[in-house]
Amino acid sequence: MKVDLHIHTKYSPDGDIDPAFLLRVALGRGYRQLAITDHIDPPNDPYTPFDPVKFRNCRNDITLLQTSYPTLSVLFGAEVGEFHRNEAFVRSQFAVCPPELVIASIHMVNGANVSVPMPKYPTSELARAYYRENLEMLDIRSIDVLGHLGIYKRYIVGGFNDYDCKPLIDDILKKIIAKDIALEINTSGLKRPLRNLIPEPEVITRYKELGGKMFVLGSDSHTMTQFDQSHEDAAVILRKLGVRQIMYRNRNNWATIPL
Ligand SMILES: [Zn+2]
Ligand SMILES: [Zn+2]
Repeated sequence: MKVDLHIHTKYSPDGDIDPAFLLRVALGRGYRQLAITDHIDPPNDPYTPFDPVKFRNCRNDITLLQTSYPTLSVLFGAEVGEFHRNEAFVRSQFAVCPPELVIASIHMVNGANVSVPMPKYPTSELARAYYRENLEMLDIRSIDVLGHLGIYKRYIVGGFNDYDCKPLIDDILKKIIAKDIALEINTSGLKRPLRNLIPEPEVITRYKELGGKMFVLGSDSHTMTQFDQSHEDAAVILRKLGVRQIMYRNRNNWATIPL
């Protein structure tokens, strides 16, 4: 049984997945649950400007499709960028169209988008600023999942040594554990220059040492070729790290399935 709780569709400004096709493929490949998590960023965001009409259309589309796929659960979710910086706007959208799953992610650090290939090699200052943003964002309520911790390394061959950020990362991990926020294991780095999970195995191991148990798998697919591309590879790595189960949503609660 597979689960993917991070997928972008054609209703997202940067995705082109047709939900009907996605569900058909997912069912054939043994998925039990998917979450559509299109971006919620301000309408003037230069990368993923929010369109409330598309957001509502997405929800309506999923609700309709769900009736045709009783054995595959599909959640209407959202990936919120810099939630703490856009809180009033995001909550106004949630009031109209509430998502069933909220991933909170950091994409922008000091005005730079760190989730795309960056023009310059990162610095320790950038890494610190990135983790600080994550830590600050986690004070916001109604976050279900912390998205792709360490995303700024996705396009860097061999990653980036942010060892001096270890205390900050520990603070982030302790905070999500205390608040029952799940840690996303984002598989999109496996086929990108990083060639690793996001967060990387060291952080996953540290999370476990600190008592963390809430692992969520997300492909961060924006196209159908990315969907189901790395689920098995990720599962192999996670099992080696001693992760035996992952989370899915059962109504409004978390539940686990074996990995
Ligand atoms: Zn993201
Ligand atoms: Zn995403």
